[in-house]
Amino acid sequence: MSERQTALVTGATRGIGAAIAEQLASDGFIVFGTATSKTGANSITKNLNKYGGGNKGYVLNVTNSEQISNLIKEISPISVLVNNAGITSDNLLMRMSNEEWLSVINTNLSSIYRTSKAVIRPMMKAKYGRIINISSVVGSTGNPGQTNYAAAKAGIDGFTKALSKEIGSRGITVNSIAPGFIESDMTSGLPAKQKEILLSQIPANRLGTPQDVAKLTAFIASDKSSYINGQTLHINGGMFA
Ligand code: NAP
Repeated sequence: MSERQTALVTGATRGIGAAIAEQLASDGFIVFGTATSKTGANSITKNLNKYGGGNKGYVLNVTNSEQISNLIKEISPISVLVNNAGITSDNLLMRMSNEEWLSVINTNLSSIYRTSKAVIRPMMKAKYGRIINISSVVGSTGNPGQTNYAAAKAGIDGFTKALSKEIGSRGITVNSIAPGFIESDMTSGLPAKQKEILLSQIPANRLGTPQDVAKLTAFIASDKSSYINGQTLHINGGMFA
């Protein structure tokens, strides 16, 4: 990369977001990673500074519009936005509370409306941008106990397609990456029996690593991917073939 571009990665403290932030920093981006706490933000700064100066952690709650607009103003213009922050709050629908439903929709889906809206004007001005939304295979397949999560992730895929059509003529691509089951805090609590069943459905015979997802994200974040737009890119070891 001749001039260092900037990238914002939400939820960069751990798991997939941390791996994406590291990959982009090692590829030469100036990376801003977000955490929900000051301690998390400091550890992002420390971790990313191995790759060069300028990388920084910030505190951000993606459910808070004001925090988003303040952060984007501070770091703008950014070339790459990776909407990665996400949560699960699983329950069978008949037992699901309003809070479980709303928190997942708000954190995983409404957040990308807020962050994307905040970055597209400067991206349009620059005639360049990459918006990458981390979706999930569950948005395409469904999963019992995850109506809220599957709805949010399917919503992300639809949002991605619509926005790609709005701004595709301006040098900006909008894609979603839909991982299968990846080793992280989100999956570490799965009961052993459920993991065994899952593995039997994955031809690669292993869960994915955060780095598997990070490498694909880095390709989409680069200028090598300029003709890929409005897509949901699946990465799951063959489980959803
Ligand atoms: P994770 O290890 O649980 O990490 C979640 C990240 O999101 C953390 O950095 C967390 O920040 C951040 N976060 C949570 N709530 C937030 C909020 N309200 N505002 C801002 N940041 C918030 O999760 P992961 O497994 O790496 O998952 C990352 C993304 O990949 C998610 O969108 C997830 O749905 C998706 N995904 C994961 C898998 C999988 O198998 N792991 C599969 C498909 C898709 P703190 O550390 O500060 O709490």
